[in-house]
Amino acid sequence: MSKQSMLGILLASLLVTVPMAGCIDEITDVLDEGESWGKVGGLTLACLRSDTYSNMVVEIDYAPGYAPESSTVSLLKQRLEQVCDKPGGISMKLNEETFSETSSWNADLVRSVGHDTMDESPLSGSTLRWHVIMPQGSYSDDSVLGVAVDASTIALFGDSIDDANGLFNRPSSEEVENSVMIHEFGHLLGLVNLVYTSPADHEDDDHPGHSNNDESVMYWAVESQSLNSFFTGNLPNEFDADDLADMEGMKSGELSCSDQLWRP
Ligand SMILES: [Zn+2]
Repeated sequence: MSKQSMLGILLASLLVTVPMAGCIDEITDVLDEGESWGKVGGLTLACLRSDTYSNMVVEIDYAPGYAPESSTVSLLKQRLEQVCDKPGGISMKLNEETFSETSSWNADLVRSVGHDTMDESPLSGSTLRWHVIMPQGSYSDDSVLGVAVDASTIALFGDSIDDANGLFNRPSSEEVENSVMIHEFGHLLGLVNLVYTSPADHEDDDHPGHSNNDESVMYWAVESQSLNSFFTGNLPNEFDADDLADMEGMKSGELSCSDQLWRP
């Protein structure tokens, strides 16, 4: 095997297997967690629809030196505006925060620190609030780049993201951060099949909760023949047609949704 293809495989596993392996563990964990914070996908309808929650705030709390790239913030806003009906607008609130944990994270810690540092509760008045923490340190499995741990809480691990850039910086850590952020929000939006069953066959058989399409941001992994897409730096950061159709179906009521903390 050539050095270049070895690097390619390494890159692919860092970029794709990694974040998703992390998120899926949490999705099953959260079922036991219960409580009012809900499971991943539990606020999908509150986001997609405008009935009660006509505004949305995305609170991003980052450790000193761990602020998100401005491209990540603007891309996230754009992707959410594409699918969530929020006539009152979606605003991004960034705060620097000193977290109690700076080295080793797990799902329970992301939940407790996330809940402690959130400025307001997820559902308040007419505002839906989702929360991202971007702390120092890494997940217990340090190949994990991001996790979604309940209906409103995400963590992104900047140290691990910085180490996940590709050969010749293509994709760059900035592009990796862009994709991981959108991917985790995709889980909060119920993708893929977390709180509904898609009429399209796009959930990967071996990786529950993830897409089998390498052009979706919800893609699970890359097979060897797909590696060239990573060499050109084209990491997916968009929802594909099936993802969009699933969200449209949930929003309209055509697809029934389970485990919702709010329903129209
Ligand atoms: Zn995932």
